[in-house]
Amino acid sequence: MELGRPGSGKRRLRDLLLLKDNRFCADCRASDPKWASANIGVFICLKCCGVHRSLGAHISKVLSVTLDEWNDDEIDAMIEIGGNSSANAIYEAFIPDGFSKPGPDASHEQRSRFIRSKYELQEFLKPSLRISSAHSDKSNIQANFATRVMNSFRSSQKQEGMVDFIGLLKVKVIKGTNLAIRDMMTSDPYVVLTLGRQTVQTCVVASNLNPVWNEELTLSVPQSFGSLKLQVYDYDTFSADDIMGEADIDLQPLITSAMAFGDAGLFSNMQIGKWLKSHDNALMNDSTVNIVDGKVKQEMTLKLQNVESGELDLELEWMAS
Ligand SMILES: [Zn+2]
Repeated sequence: MELGRPGSGKRRLRDLLLLKDNRFCADCRASDPKWASANIGVFICLKCCGVHRSLGAHISKVLSVTLDEWNDDEIDAMIEIGGNSSANAIYEAFIPDGFSKPGPDASHEQRSRFIRSKYELQEFLKPSLRISSAHSDKSNIQANFATRVMNSFRSSQKQEGMVDFIGLLKVKVIKGTNLAIRDMMTSDPYVVLTLGRQTVQTCVVASNLNPVWNEELTLSVPQSFGSLKLQVYDYDTFSADDIMGEADIDLQPLITSAMAFGDAGLFSNMQIGKWLKSHDNALMNDSTVNIVDGKVKQEMTLKLQNVESGELDLELEWMAS
């Protein structure tokens, strides 16, 4: 694409934005997008921008076309990818037949499910291009995730570096109880889950020591998975967020029992496994793994570690791939 003619960076970016296929949000088709994911190379609307931001800058680095300062590398990357159509040709290559993308008026939930599927889980990417976001290194924030997708797109022959996922782990973060105080009187808690180098997080609940999230987060589980790390933070506008406790979750009981049973849809509701409370784990009580309406689920209450107080309720669901 020959947009790299002399001129200010802003001008080159605006020229790209004015191309026809960039006049609509890459994710929901809302008109006149004013935001962009600089590493993925798409122009997006304000609503989709909010979801991109929640994925973390290691997956999508969001910038305003008009308000933010762009450096030359960021602009060059946008131009190299070539805009929304080119990016979507990659990220939506394997969108299932009959699947309908969210429209401009989609709910936040529909929008965020789609955007996570598209970029974070790479569900619509050609299978051989799928990579683990576990490879992206947060310290190398600029472009890692998308660069890897683009690199593997360019050399799709190359198989190395691929990770085989054995399934998806859905984690419903239900609520926190009696969390620690980090501001004057209260805290603004949110939960971060880390599996390998994949990270997902809930939204922030303002001024609440007993927050209810009921938020579902999804992680891809690689063949060699370790424990799921949970951390609670207090959101702080002006300084680094303070930690409000953490817990390690052993996924072995869930995944091993699910694998042993195979297709959970063939069984009626029953208990199939258990993670036992012990002095060296964060469980408040034994946590059972159950088949519930054909799904493999595990509820647990965790006592947050390395903090003065706080419990957290979760529900895990395993989906084998
Ligand atoms: Zn949009």
